[in-house]
Amino acid sequence: MSKSDIIIIGAGPGGYRAAELAAKQGLSVTVFEKERVGGTCLNVGCIPTKCLARNAELLLSLSDAAAFGVENLSYAFNFQTTIQRKDQVVDSLRQGVETILSHPSVSVVRAHAAFKDEHTVIADGNEYEADHIIIATGSSSKTLPIDIAEGCEVLDSSDLLSLGQLPKSICIIGAGVIGMEFASIFNAFGVEVTVVEFLKECLPVLDSDIAKRLRKMLEKRGITFHLQCAVSGISKDGVAFVNKKGKTECVQAEKVLMAVGRKPNTEGLGLDAIDVSLERGAVPVDASSFRVVGSAGSPLGSVYAIGDANGLQMLAHAAEMQAAHVVNQLLGKADDIRLDIMPAAIFTTPEAACVGLSEDECKNRGIDYACRKSFWRANGKAMAMGESDGMLKLLTGSDGLILGCHAFGAHAADIIQEVSSLMCRRTTVCQLADMVHIHPTLSEILKTAAEG
Ligand SMILES: Cc1cc2nc3c(=O)[nH]c(=O)nc-3n(C[C@H](O)[C@H](O)[C@H](O)COP(=O)(O)OP(=O)(O)OC[C@H]3O[C@@H](n4cnc5c(N)ncnc54)[C@H](O)[C@@H]3O)c2cc1C
Repeated sequence: MSKSDIIIIGAGPGGYRAAELAAKQGLSVTVFEKERVGGTCLNVGCIPTKCLARNAELLLSLSDAAAFGVENLSYAFNFQTTIQRKDQVVDSLRQGVETILSHPSVSVVRAHAAFKDEHTVIADGNEYEADHIIIATGSSSKTLPIDIAEGCEVLDSSDLLSLGQLPKSICIIGAGVIGMEFASIFNAFGVEVTVVEFLKECLPVLDSDIAKRLRKMLEKRGITFHLQCAVSGISKDGVAFVNKKGKTECVQAEKVLMAVGRKPNTEGLGLDAIDVSLERGAVPVDASSFRVVGSAGSPLGSVYAIGDANGLQMLAHAAEMQAAHVVNQLLGKADDIRLDIMPAAIFTTPEAACVGLSEDECKNRGIDYACRKSFWRANGKAMAMGESDGMLKLLTGSDGLILGCHAFGAHAADIIQEVSSLMCRRTTVCQLADMVHIHPTLSEILKTAAEG
């Protein structure tokens, strides 16, 4: 039987980061990966979608070129080249992950792994033992429990990333992060896009005011939204849904994307063997140590679950930082990682991003807050760039501490990253207003909000 200090199941951003950090600190690691290293994020998630989002941004800029005096442009959009470029980027980054995992202290077993007990996994009929085991198995697309007629193809996000040809039209079920990013991308590619969403507004992670403004912008670009509509079935006639008045309607589209969320990958993992039962479909963990909680309600001594598998914060950077936190614990090292401050971005054009509380959450929790707004159209750099659409809301408490910030507009994610860093250092809004910001930059939008 092979023995190492740590076994890691899954080589996505959680798993490969844990392997890299542990190996650098002299621990021996065995990583199990049943598909391609890099996981969802690299192969069918963050990176490929951002390649397509870049194409979308470029096409939208070209369509606006005349406003910048660039006239009589003639160009054709080659979807196959777009997909090839995306594949090249992904392949090259995957090579980088292979290099990380080629560290002499890391062994990679390219097979499905399942638990035998709290210190042993089985893969391809062989047993592997370790002092600690980290579950980093990620997640897969969810589907709705609705009738799908035989012969009707419903795609998930991975299928959509490997389309051979651009469809004429697409119906996207779900206006969460993944649905909205694809809606923005395919609309820019000239595809007729319809989005059907059960909730009152798109992007529930965002401040509702910001989400609404972003949706209105996307509507102006030609995307059709059906909000507060429950999809009831998919047939040759199209996607049927019950609208908010109780009437059934139908969207005809060449392709249908199901983007209704993600579920942790736990099938065939053998969690029974370590007496662990799923909670809301995820591997239950103690939220500060990421130790897996057994059916008896107490954390196991040697098994951890990080990233999408524990369902806490389904983001690549959350997986990476949870990995770092677990490795630090195994090494007995204290750290300052603030997993409660988790920025997130939505890469539509323009972007949206958020960290901390939204105004809706402040109201619902009865918090004494102030909301300071600022706008892209009042910022010199944004106007120079021709990016005048955007709004930022900075939420502060009665003590002046930043509670959250939500925004949409060009490069909103970069601005939110600054807020996130400031929140980690407990910066007050007055201290922020006193910090010099380069002129002209989009980050002055944040300073303007802080100045109130
Ligand atoms: C379309 C899309 C776009 C996204 N965009 C973003 C974004 O812009 N920013 C962001 O932060 N997040 C984004 N995400 C989410 C992000 O991809 C995930 O949060 C992240 O990949 C989670 O990392 P992970 O390491 O937990 O799991 P994963 O990346 O899912 O990796 C898990 C790995 O474990 C392997 N595995 C599973 N079970 C076993 C087993 N039993 N044995 C061996 N191997 C196993 C899988 O094959 C997989 O390779 C996106 C997701 C999607 C689908």
